[in-house]
Amino acid sequence: MGDSTTYLNNAVQSLRSLHQINNLRLSSFYRSKPQGPQDQPDYINAVAQFDTDLDAHDLLSVLQQIEKNNDRKRNGQRWGARTLDLDLLLYGNIIINTATLIVPHPWMYERSFVLYPLKELSPDLIFPNGKTLAQCILKVSADDLQLIP
Ligand code: ATP
Ligand code: CA
Ligand code: CA
Repeated sequence: MGDSTTYLNNAVQSLRSLHQINNLRLSSFYRSKPQGPQDQPDYINAVAQFDTDLDAHDLLSVLQQIEKNNDRKRNGQRWGARTLDLDLLLYGNIIINTATLIVPHPWMYERSFVLYPLKELSPDLIFPNGKTLAQCILKVSADDLQLIP
């Protein structure tokens, strides 16, 4: 909802400003159609990679605080329109399965709007399950994605 590109840029600036986060690299921005309810605007997606001293749960809290600071309201509806959604895709090679955090993000392997920006940052990536990004991306079309120049 709203000016997605500005919300995304705000989020990146907030992450860069934290002393526990270093060496942030950002992919291009990609436009995609919503999944779930279709009566909402297109999404703008990107992937960021950085080093951090935060453990994964503290990092998730930071991401959720940044969402809140950017007008994210949680209304209970999954996949509904929102101003900003920051998901933790990967945390090194670590696997996490708790009530509040699942890493790698469970749907990332089939989402074009994750895999293609991720490929920009880390084309030779191997996931914790041993699969390569190159293998996964072969099964996922980029037809629904539009690279924003
Ligand atoms: P999706 O998970 O399909 O991308 P979503 O991002 O819209 O959907 P949210 O409503 O933002 O889902 O998040 C719901 C809950 O998911 C959060 O409260 C959080 O605790 C949990 N969660 C589990 N794993 C992760 C993760 N890797 N990154 C972000 N949130 C996660
Ligand atoms: Ca999400
Ligand atoms: Ca989320």
